[in-house]
Amino acid sequence: MSFEDKSMAAVRSEIEGLIIGAGFSGLCMGIGLRTAGLHDFLILDRASEVGGTWRDNHYPGCACDIPSLLYSYSFEPNPDWTRLYAPQSEIKAYLQHCARKYGLQPHLRLGEELATLSFDERADRWDAVTTGGTRYRARWVVSGMGALSRPAYPKITGIERFKGTTFHSAEWRHDHDLTGKRVAVIGTGASAVQFVPQIAPRVARLDVYQRTAPWIMSKADRPIHGWERALFRRIPMLQRWSRLAIYWRLESRLLGFLLSPTLMRFAARKARRQIERQVANPELRRKVTPDYAFGCKRILLSDDFYPALCRSNVSLVTESIREVTEDSILTAEGQQRPVDAIIFGTGFQTRDLVPHGVVRGVGGVELHERWPNGPEAFLGVSVAGFPNLFFLLGPNTGLAHNSMVYMIEAQVRYVLGSLSAMKRAGWSRVDVRPEAQRRFNESLQSRMKRTIWSSGCQSWYLNEQGRNTLLWPGFTFNYRRLTSRFRPRYYVCETRPESVT
Ligand code: NAP
Repeated sequence: MSFEDKSMAAVRSEIEGLIIGAGFSGLCMGIGLRTAGLHDFLILDRASEVGGTWRDNHYPGCACDIPSLLYSYSFEPNPDWTRLYAPQSEIKAYLQHCARKYGLQPHLRLGEELATLSFDERADRWDAVTTGGTRYRARWVVSGMGALSRPAYPKITGIERFKGTTFHSAEWRHDHDLTGKRVAVIGTGASAVQFVPQIAPRVARLDVYQRTAPWIMSKADRPIHGWERALFRRIPMLQRWSRLAIYWRLESRLLGFLLSPTLMRFAARKARRQIERQVANPELRRKVTPDYAFGCKRILLSDDFYPALCRSNVSLVTESIREVTEDSILTAEGQQRPVDAIIFGTGFQTRDLVPHGVVRGVGGVELHERWPNGPEAFLGVSVAGFPNLFFLLGPNTGLAHNSMVYMIEAQVRYVLGSLSAMKRAGWSRVDVRPEAQRRFNESLQSRMKRTIWSSGCQSWYLNEQGRNTLLWPGFTFNYRRLTSRFRPRYYVCETRPESVT
């Protein structure tokens, strides 16, 4: 269906607001709206359940790497987490619980994937069309499409010839039993360090292909004991204090990322000691020791990844892959390594934020035309020329040191403030001023240059131009302060007579 064809689809719903995505951010927005007494909105999600990345990722060992007491909504503490770092099944169940408890069920439109979103300038309305041809028309739209929703597959010569099984960690094939199989894992990122230790004891042989050694720290995970959970239930204040203590512990780490290479050297020494403790073989030690600044790429947490690599049935392959044949992987140095299954732990398409060709704003301009140097927004939320469209988890609001839920809640509050300002003043359109967006991003990128993420390593935080469009280069409490209220002076705020219905 072409763009024009889709816009001809029958209008099914004329609503105040539309949220795209039913993950942590989309659900938080829905809860915020309902709590503020706003009920005329829908939440679209392409999947048949809520949960976002915690629904999609269910590989063995999938768990959070931020303590769950903090990686949860501040308004919905869960005293029942069974571990410091909850497994995926508990996080998914928590999000389902929140959707039920806060009455989001009637708002959910599951199994509906956004195909196009275009702004009707005469009426100041967004027209959304799904891949199934359903059309929604809304005054405002909130994007809750996280950056970790589209798996990235590497281009490997010959992969289409391979006769065995291939899948991505975010699309785990539980129906495919790996027991006794020869398995190759490509990638040693956040997901791979979690599932490699789980599958290593079951498979006949495991080849882990590493392009860059990650920095790994001890996770120090442990069960939350029954008596601790009982205490959290009886004295909720205790749980709030624990949450606060975790927040400040993690926030203090930012000093290393932003200001002090000495702090980073101290942490790097701890990480090297973990290698020395867990890896006896000098050759393997050399291979797993990173050669770039600690913190430049995402720091991973694990206590069982190195021991898994030390197993006799596991090899860490650091040569690059030349090609894949029908039943093996051929390395650049000419080794032929037979394999029955290939698992891609190769991360996500994080660079574009939103797929190309989907969102068109004022003048029919496609979103990525406004982003020649990669995604950018004012406060990570508003993009000039795309009025009444708000991004959650937008450009430069990701974190490498603390809980994303904190950022999501700040953004939701900001969007609620914007909507309430629009309602009070009777504006049909708020469009961030290009100047405000430019100044905000110039200052952000100049701060970014001084961070450890710009110290020269190649990471998925950087786009093709070497620009970091993903991370927030500052304290999270500063972000919260900046987004504490909607400031009309940074926006063109208008009322169009035609928009009043
Ligand atoms: P990732 O951290 O981006 O790791 C991808 C891995 O694949 C890296 O080792 C990368 O190597 C390798 N790779 C990518 N393309 C390759 C290619 N063409 N050839 C060879 N190797 C290639 O991806 P992820 O592990 O899926 O995690 C993505 C993000 O998800 C994380 O950083 C994190 O934010 C999130 N996550 C969070 C949790 C959690 O507990 N909260 C758990 C899992 C994931 P290079 O390093 O050389 O690029």
